[in-house]
Order: sequence, then C-alpha cells, then structure tokens
Amino acid sequence: MRRYRCGKIVSTIGPASSDPEKLEGLFLRGVDVFRLNFSHGAHEGHAKVYESIRAIGKKYNCHPTILADMQGPKLRVGTFENDRIILETGDVFRFDLDPTPGNTRRVNLPHPEILEALHAGTTLLLDDGKLRFEVTECGNDFANVKVLVGGPLSNRKGVNVPHVKLNIPALTEKDLKDLNFALDLGVDWIACSFVQTPEDVENAKKIINGRAGIVSKLEKPLAIEALEPIVEVSDAIMVARGDLGVEMNPEEVPPIQRRIINTCHRMGRPIIVATQMLESMISSPSPTRAEISDIATAVYCGADATMLSAESASGQYPYEAVSIMSKTVEHVETDPFCARRVEDDEQVPQRTTIDAICTAAKDAAEYSCASAIVLFTEKFESVVRCTRLRPRVPVILVTESPALASKSGLCYGIYAVCEKTFENKNFDTSVMTKVAKDLAKTHKFAKDGDTIVMLNDLQGHSIEICQL
Ligand code: PGA
Ligand code: MN
Repeated sequence: MRRYRCGKIVSTIGPASSDPEKLEGLFLRGVDVFRLNFSHGAHEGHAKVYESIRAIGKKYNCHPTILADMQGPKLRVGTFENDRIILETGDVFRFDLDPTPGNTRRVNLPHPEILEALHAGTTLLLDDGKLRFEVTECGNDFANVKVLVGGPLSNRKGVNVPHVKLNIPALTEKDLKDLNFALDLGVDWIACSFVQTPEDVENAKKIINGRAGIVSKLEKPLAIEALEPIVEVSDAIMVARGDLGVEMNPEEVPPIQRRIINTCHRMGRPIIVATQMLESMISSPSPTRAEISDIATAVYCGADATMLSAESASGQYPYEAVSIMSKTVEHVETDPFCARRVEDDEQVPQRTTIDAICTAAKDAAEYSCASAIVLFTEKFESVVRCTRLRPRVPVILVTESPALASKSGLCYGIYAVCEKTFENKNFDTSVMTKVAKDLAKTHKFAKDGDTIVMLNDLQGHSIEICQL
C-alpha cells in the first residue's frame, strides 16, 4: 500500500483488532507491520490473524510485515490466599520457593535463578516498578526483604531485577514452542524479549536458522551496557521502553533511546521505538500533546518505525490511534529540519561496493530531484544499507522473493514490489531502466516527466538516472 511517509507503523494485534475486518481497517489506516504478541493468546488465534493478514496482502497486492513477539523470561510472583495483600513501606516480607499461596508475610517466587543471583542490598521491583523492595538476607531458596515502597500486590504480578545478570536464557520452553509455531506460519520477524547478552541473540539465531529476521528488544540495563555487540548480532532492534522504564529511572530512557537509534543508524539495523506512544488513546479518542510530541521525537531521531501496543491490541480506539500516528509521522517528515537532523548522525559509509552504490544513489536522487529510487536486489543486507542512509525519497524495492518483500516492510522508506522481472536473467541496463520506470509509474511514485534513480544490485552494481 502506497503511504505518504517513510517511517513505518507497527501495530500490536489483540482482542480489539484480531477480526479480519479490523485487521483490514488497521491496514488501510496505515499499519505496515502487524505484531503478534505471544505473551497473550493461543496458537489458533495467532494462526487466524496470520492468515487474515496474508489475505489482505493478496487482496491489495502488497506485502504486510508480520512480527511474532516472544514473551521471554517474564518473571512473576505466585498467588495469594486472598488474591491480594497490601504492603506498607518499612514492612518486612519474604520471597521463597514454596508454591503454597502467600499472605502478608511471604509469597512464592517460582524462579530459583533469581534467588541465586540476589545478594543483600539488591533491589527488587514488582508490578511494573510500583512496589520496591531491598534484599536484607538471602539463601538459595529464600530472600528476606524490606519494603521501600509499598502498595497493593496481587496474584502473578511481574518481577524485575534491574542490573543483576540472571542465569536465564532469553528463550524459555514456552518461547521455543511459540517460536517454532511462528516460524512454521511463516512470520517475517521474531522479537526476543529481555535479551541480556549477544549470546542470547546468537542462540536464538541458531534456532531461527535464517527463517526469519531477529529483533532484539532492549529492555534491560545489562543489554544497554552491551549495546554495540547486541546490535551487531541482531537484524533489528526495539527500544522497549515499557520494561526499560521499569528497570531504569524514567529520565534515563530518552537519552538511551537516542543512543540506541544512533547506534542502529551507524551499524545499519532497522530500529523500532515502542511502548506508551499513544497510551491515553487506550481509553480516549484523542491523544495528549505530549504523546504526539513523543512520536515526533522518534521521527526526528530517525527511527524506522514507531509502535502501538495496548492502543491497538486492547484499547477502545485502535483505528484512531493508527490514523493519528500515521498523520503525525507523515507531517513531521515534511519538515526540512527532519531530514537534516537525521543526516547529522554518523552515517559514514563503509568501504564496500554496496555502500558506494547506495551513497551514489542517494546523492543522485537528491541532486536530480528524483521522486523515487528503484532498488533491484535479492538481499536484505542491501535493502538495509540503502535505507540506512535515509534517502529523502521512497525506495521501491523490486524482488522476486515474497519473503524479502514482506520482511523489508519494517525498514524506513521501503515500498516492496514482488515480481519476476527479468526473463532469462537479462539484466541489460536498458531493460532494467524500462522496468524501473514502468514500476514507478504503475505504483504511482512517478509520472511522465519525473526523474527516478535505478539501483542495480542484481548483476554487478550500477545506478542510472532516468526520466519518465
Ligand atoms: P512488551 O515489550 O510490550 O512485550 O513488554 C515492550 C516493552 O517492554 O516496552
Ligand atoms: Mn517488555
């Protein structure tokens, strides 16, 4: 679907949006990437959503992107006798391995790996950081704590242990089942939650074995400490501000967001900014000014994509949220300062043929006032090297591979066309430029008299500036 913006929109699918008509409605309003959240829902439901999205692709002759997000080692306490307790600041409390329901003195923490990693002085956060505890004494099967910030605590609330390396793989048993299920469906991307080290990503990569790209969700301070090595081994990155904002002070998150985006630009990885972007729209049809400004900031910083979570999964106004996000991205991109700001980032090309040709194509498009770049390639790496430079015009990716077409939908400015274009592998420049011109015209990126830039990454490397 032709969009009038380069930044992409990721939308999480849930009860508010999983019907085929709702999915189509979201797509028409601007969703480029559909996120199946495996923290919720059964396989059957995800399979139905998957099929509906692929059917939308067929109907509109385009390639929506599908991302399967793994729950990861989300840590939780057990249950309470009366479902809920209230803890006062200054109280003493205990976490242990006993599975019987808890009370105001103790509760089950069914993760021996956490207890092992704790020591006196460690901070434990519960229920998205609303409650805070300090460990006073601990052993292999218990931790006694002091309540630093109290409040209500109910069954199965989440636990965060910031700054402590936990001996837990990023993919749990549930994740492995979900992962294989998602790969069998044919998703384009797998997102891994709570990645702590580059090894976590490499392990996941081994299992995925090239069947999908891997998005590392950065939501732990430890992952930020290993930012570059993690980006290096990942295919894309998500700034997962939800859990990151629990594990770090909230004021630390914006500078980290910038650092992550800049690192991804430099290293050439698509980058998604996620969580609470339009939080108030879960229950209100219009956003706050601050939320719009947050989306704008992500665009000015040069994110590839911005994401909706509960806003589109379970909120009351999924259509409105997508429309407003789409309009905001589109409008901010028209600001000339936006392009300049992104270019100010370190975008030094590497000394490789592909970077040479992509830089040339970007400059050629700019100085010839072209309306699009037409990129012929079969390699995701080439797609990324091209969009990394943030050309100011859309990039029409032409590939024979439906998988490459839908995977690339996450990348800034990419519009994918999937066609068997060159009979008998005839890559003659005159043939390629003719195909490029025709495609730019049929897909309404250029009209007679306009200029386009053709980038050939199929046989050798070349660019051609051509007029329609
Ligand atoms: P989640 O990840 O929505 O799966 O928790 C994103 C985040 O933590 O921001
Ligand atoms: Mn998270």
